[in-house]
Amino acid sequence: MDVASQLIRCANFAAIKHKDQRRKDAEKTPYINHPIGVAYILTEEAGVTDVHVIQAALLHDTVEDTDTSFEELEEHFGPEVTGLVREVTDNKSLPSPLRKLEQIKHAPNTSPKAKLVKLADKLYNLRDLNRATPEGWTEERVHKYFEWASKVVAGLRGTNEIMEKELDKLFKERNVL
Ligand code: ZN
Repeated sequence: MDVASQLIRCANFAAIKHKDQRRKDAEKTPYINHPIGVAYILTEEAGVTDVHVIQAALLHDTVEDTDTSFEELEEHFGPEVTGLVREVTDNKSLPSPLRKLEQIKHAPNTSPKAKLVKLADKLYNLRDLNRATPEGWTEERVHKYFEWASKVVAGLRGTNEIMEKELDKLFKERNVL
């Protein structure tokens, strides 16, 4: 299959799966803006050209946040893309605070390709927090999120200089480095 089809199939699949979800900002931005934005960071900023990584970026929240199963992903997109999504998917059976600790613990053990997706995901989310505070979040909660993200990113370093520099800028602004 040609690369354009591979990518559009993922974008379309994610759009259908996330269609009823919104981001947490006051404007209730459509959720799909997030996975597309993560893929965009990888291709347009970070210089990533590996199609499986871009596919995984488009699909990265489908299992965690929708009814999608890994079997379904495997059937549509094959084992490599599914493996990458698996690496960046939190264990939903754990309570949220534990999932956050698990991300810190597991970051250094993920593959280089999965680390690219995780770096772009964190960069997108932190920029988004700077753009608009989610409804109901205090400044304190935003600060704690930056502190946590810097600990996850610590385990992803040595993967992509451009994204790591962009993340460092954001951490410095918040004094979390
Ligand atoms: Zn995400």
